Amino acid sequence: MTKKSDTHGSNTRLVTGGRRREWTGPVVNPPVWRASTHLYEDIAAKDEGGKHNEDGRFFYGRRGAPTQWALAEALTELEPGAHGTVLYPSGVAAIAGALLAVLKPGDVLLVTDNAYEPSRVMANGLLKRMGVDCRFFDPLDVDGFADRFCDKTKAVLFENPGSLTMEVCDIPALAAIARERSAVSLIDNTWASPLGFHALDHGCDIAIMSLTKHVGGHSDLMMGSASAGERWYRRLRQTAQALGQVVSPDDAALAARGLRTMGLRLERSTATALEIARWLEHREDVAHVLCPFLPGAPGYELWQRDFSGGCGLFSFVLKGSDEAARTRLIDTLDLFGIGFSWGGFESLALPFDPASIRSETPWPPEGWQSGDRLGIRLSIGLEDASDLIADLARGFAAMEQG
Ligand SMILES: *Cc1c(COP(=O)(O)O)cnc(C)c1O
Repeated sequence: MTKKSDTHGSNTRLVTGGRRREWTGPVVNPPVWRASTHLYEDIAAKDEGGKHNEDGRFFYGRRGAPTQWALAEALTELEPGAHGTVLYPSGVAAIAGALLAVLKPGDVLLVTDNAYEPSRVMANGLLKRMGVDCRFFDPLDVDGFADRFCDKTKAVLFENPGSLTMEVCDIPALAAIARERSAVSLIDNTWASPLGFHALDHGCDIAIMSLTKHVGGHSDLMMGSASAGERWYRRLRQTAQALGQVVSPDDAALAARGLRTMGLRLERSTATALEIARWLEHREDVAHVLCPFLPGAPGYELWQRDFSGGCGLFSFVLKGSDEAARTRLIDTLDLFGIGFSWGGFESLALPFDPASIRSETPWPPEGWQSGDRLGIRLSIGLEDASDLIADLARGFAAMEQG
């Protein structure tokens, strides 16, 4: 059956997704169904309800209710090739839930060397303790990737672009190698979201997102998701249910509200980020701008080939390695908050130096001046670009003054 949404563009899907009449009633948004117990008409209805474990069937609060089902359905409609979506209480919970769904003791997991740090901690800690051996790989080394596999390699965790340093990798080529070796490809697709990158269409099996970022979009909720074709969706769902993972209907309603405007917000923050990246590119005190959608920046060609959009998150690296100067720059900023997370309506700045986190890829990368290693990650929000640039200019002036 062709879904009505198959013929619609992604912004239309953002608006219509999950708004089934049976879930919304006569109003626009599905109401917040606060429920643990679901009541049955009679015993026959209870017995029937237990037989069908799927979204849309009332059973018990842990399996959600229309507020959560509507959000999950809207996310599934955004991801071509997905059969269903499982919601988790955070992005990290989604990564953990998906890895636990595909791995068992004795398996080997390959993790991209520029993975989000908590993913790395999970691989080296929780998964190792469970008897899963984790190995890291350089995401830009397509030729060397096949050599990283052994008979026990069962899954690969990608992130594209990489956390903090924004390398864009060749997912179709890498995922094809993983598929040849019968390994499951999981991708942390938080940066691009399905609006910017169709993970399953590009060869991945499970697309994970921290909904805390673009989908929530207002820095007031935490949630995660994993979308997949039918086989892996069933496994994700069973595992999440075994672990008792559930999201609150209040948060699901907030996330669904964020979703409706996500396309507009991403378009705007990407355009502002590009303007700021161009401004940074011409500064003497900036060594590298790490922004996949900046023409000429590292990864731009692959980004252009594989992505249909960007977002407001990118990084740059200062010339020289004066940490106090970097601190002066960031501390001087007014409009940029200092804090974790990103994808909200407000801009953020965060210092980073991944040298101590990575094991397979050197930082600074080969070919760079060794002093050019102190990074700043910007999450660009919805403010006026000219104000953000003026704020950054003040920060740079404070940095130079010493
Ligand atoms: C923030 C983030 C996560 C984790 O999401 P939470 O909702 O904060 O748990 C995962 N991956 C990436 C790339 C992130 O930036």
